[in-house]
Amino acid sequence: MEHAYLIDIGWVDLAYLVASVLFILGIKGMTHPRTAVRGNLLSAWGMLLAVVTALLANGLSYQWILLGAVIGGAIGAFAAVRVQMTQMPEMVALFNGFGGVASVLVAGAAFVAAADPGLQTTIAAGLSGLIGAVTFSGSLIAFLKLAEKMPSGSLGFPGIKAFNALLGLAALAGVAWLAVDPSSMLAYWLIVAAACVLGVTLTIPIGGADMPVVISLLNSYSGLAAAATGFVLMNNVLIISGSLVGASGIILTRIMCKAMNRSLGNVLFAEFGGAASGPAADDVYGGKVKSTSPAEVAMMLDGVQRVLIVPGYGMAVAQAQHVVRDLANLLESRGAVVEYGIHPVAGRMPGHMNVLLAEADIPYDKLREMDDINNEIAQVDVCFVIGANDTVNPVARTDPKSPIAGMPIIDVDKARTVVVVKRSLSPGFAGIPNPLFAADNCLMMFGDGKKALVELVAALKEG
Ligand code: NDP
Repeated sequence: MEHAYLIDIGWVDLAYLVASVLFILGIKGMTHPRTAVRGNLLSAWGMLLAVVTALLANGLSYQWILLGAVIGGAIGAFAAVRVQMTQMPEMVALFNGFGGVASVLVAGAAFVAAADPGLQTTIAAGLSGLIGAVTFSGSLIAFLKLAEKMPSGSLGFPGIKAFNALLGLAALAGVAWLAVDPSSMLAYWLIVAAACVLGVTLTIPIGGADMPVVISLLNSYSGLAAAATGFVLMNNVLIISGSLVGASGIILTRIMCKAMNRSLGNVLFAEFGGAASGPAADDVYGGKVKSTSPAEVAMMLDGVQRVLIVPGYGMAVAQAQHVVRDLANLLESRGAVVEYGIHPVAGRMPGHMNVLLAEADIPYDKLREMDDINNEIAQVDVCFVIGANDTVNPVARTDPKSPIAGMPIIDVDKARTVVVVKRSLSPGFAGIPNPLFAADNCLMMFGDGKKALVELVAALKEG
């Protein structure tokens, strides 16, 4: 019957439809911090409904599923308990990669099992193999870079762009081969092998400040691979949820590109080898850095009107968000206005700082976006930079050869006084010195972020 699906919608599709609506409402909820928790919960219910429906709908052999769930669940629970909060970004990168490889395997298995796969199933399987494998190996590289198990900068070899173009063509040729001869598993494995290498060679040249873009892009790829697998399985909820992940990942990628002031093409196809040059740390800092103590800073804060706190990755390492809130409360109780300047790529994952500050119950309306706060920064009396480095490095404005050249920063150097809280003069993720630390209006309060701020709060209370 023509258009039978319009009227003959069974309970499975109905359940999938409800699950999809819950996903969309969930994403909508996550667009605002006040509704984010509810959004997350709605999506989780949607996922539960989708999983239970999928389990009940098909004639499955539950013993294998149970075995996989027990092994996977045990690994997941172990990882959840063991992983430090600061390792979350690399864990997310790894899980993205697992999503990719799951798509490769599921699409491959379903394709083998299909007695007479049509053209749509064949092409979908080929694309799932391609995108899934790129996601898998690319995410492994992102994981290694974030975990600092390999250099985080740009790596590669001369001619890598041509090599990537050839690999991309080989993988697409594999898809065409599969379309012509769907019985050829060799074609499928050719696609997967070429795409695995491509994931590595596409990701290694991207480094330093461009990593946030790659991470959100790989996130998007994992969704597209899942959507392609949905077409192989003809599973509506997988098609919809994969497309949602793919689309939201692309939107996040755009936001990250904007934050870095780069185009996507520029990030993905930047020349390898144009890497870091610039002055050595000794030349930048030699004899110019002024260090201070919590007691001195406490005195300086006496009668201060306007304070800005700019957090970065070091706040996450130190887990200093709660004492940051205590400091802010204390200053507010003395009549100061305290706000937070949030750089879009501060930390090691999108939204990292927002999550930490929300955990410490810091009201969301005190968080100011970079462009917004930069307009008023000259009126800030004291700016605390807590474990941030690249995102406040003025070199981004001044040195076109720097790996962070052109990246918008929070212009903390334009505040009246800057107090930087970090353990040493070590560089941030991009690996370059920061002339802010040697600026006339900058004082370094060396120490672990949490410990130094606890001492500052104590000194303020005493004073
Ligand atoms: P950075 O990585 O530039 O600097 C972090 C600083 O924190 C270091 O200089 C370190 O100095 C300090 N630090 C570490 N531990 C502590 C501690 N216990 N107490 C106090 N300070 C500490 O951080 P930013 O947030 O400014 O910049 C983020 C960087 O990461 C950017 O280059 C961004 O491109 C990149 N990135 C961002 C991603 C994202 O999605 N947000 C993803 C991947 C990369 P010291 O050792 O001296 O204490």
